[in-house]
Amino acid sequence: MNQIVKENLKKIFGFSQFRGNQEKIVDNLLKGNNTFVIMPTGAGKSLCYQLPAVSQEGTAIVISPLIALMKNQVDQLNAFGINAHFLNSTLNKSETNKVKKEVLSGKTKLLYVAPESLTKEENILFLKDAKLSFVAIDEAHCISEWGHDFRPEYRKIKSIIAQIGPELPIVALTATATPKVQQDIQRNLQMEEADLFKSSFNRTNLYYEVRPKIKNETKKQIIKYIKSQKGKSGIIYCLSRKKVEEIAELLKVNGIKSAPYHAGLDQSVRVKNQDDFLNEEVDVIVATIAFGMGIDKPDVRYVIHYDVPKSLEGYYQETGRAGRDGLEGHCLMFYRYDDIVKLEKFNKDKPVTERENAKILLQEMAAYAESSICRRKFLLHYFGETLEENCGFCDNCKKPKEKFEGMDYLTAVISA
Ligand code: ADP
Ligand code: MG
Repeated sequence: MNQIVKENLKKIFGFSQFRGNQEKIVDNLLKGNNTFVIMPTGAGKSLCYQLPAVSQEGTAIVISPLIALMKNQVDQLNAFGINAHFLNSTLNKSETNKVKKEVLSGKTKLLYVAPESLTKEENILFLKDAKLSFVAIDEAHCISEWGHDFRPEYRKIKSIIAQIGPELPIVALTATATPKVQQDIQRNLQMEEADLFKSSFNRTNLYYEVRPKIKNETKKQIIKYIKSQKGKSGIIYCLSRKKVEEIAELLKVNGIKSAPYHAGLDQSVRVKNQDDFLNEEVDVIVATIAFGMGIDKPDVRYVIHYDVPKSLEGYYQETGRAGRDGLEGHCLMFYRYDDIVKLEKFNKDKPVTERENAKILLQEMAAYAESSICRRKFLLHYFGETLEENCGFCDNCKKPKEKFEGMDYLTAVISA
């Protein structure tokens, strides 16, 4: 690799070395090749496009679905001395014009664009005039109806790139590794030929455990468990806002320092509760899935699922917030089949395909929860990876259950 690029890694971003596949990915993109990056959350996908962007002429377009995080990212880049901007619906007319002028002047290295803004005719015309280096599609699973966060606008990206610069290299990045989602992304972006860089999803420091969810019993177990983890940070995920409030209250009356987090709370309360968790004013945050996106607390020691997630992708993302520092993290899920049935009922008004997809994802979730085989083997198999040996670090490895009917069949399928 070009020496200047390596120097930029240190000089601009302050990192002493690349992590995992980063170097190969940056190199591939700088060569002008279409690139497909699959890497777990927190592994460092941003650098894979930020470094190539600052190391060549022109402006890189970064498509990202998270308007709320866009400003953060741009602020961070600006703090590194990088000329970066964003275009989304939070900007007024004059701010938008200022950004466009800056980009057309050729100084801007990265322009973050919301998919809704990208599809606007006036922006397509503007991008046609700009000198662009490549297009990065972050959170590329949003393209797929099999992903956990489908965004219809994402499906228009390819046709817009065809208008603004059909020759522009594309890099698609995601933390969703299921073969179905991967195929969808590649097909939709017409990048079947792209070079694929996929990292392992094995989080060896996480202990996976599933316990049956039993009325009254489960709450007692949770309190007992948290009390055994005194002073350590943990997250409890619940499905509904109501449940979040209920469990947070329950912890409080049991003398546990905790706070609720869900989208129904005032913005100011949410920010305070999140900060209290990050600053360790409270040990436990009880939350819906609204909590966690972009939050980086390295020493979360446990993640409890009071309710079953809607998919194994969701489960992997949420449990993945434990043990970011590489030290042990405990992933404890309470499960009963009734909760799967309940979730299926939520989907009954959705369009047919969406409903069918959601049902399959739920059934896979149920299969994981009910399985007697090594959890890690199951989880990694779901993400298209093969684990040769049982992990020895999950409930099924540590305390094997009685064999159930069909177990040999499942073991054979997973090991195949
Ligand atoms: P992802 O998008 O894959 O979830 P991010 O790009 O947000 O991950 O990066 C996660 C964290 O890793 C960030 O704090 C980032 O600064 C850090 N990071 C990325 N690359 C490196 C590296 N080569 N060396 C050290 N830290 C890195
Ligand atoms: Mg990211």
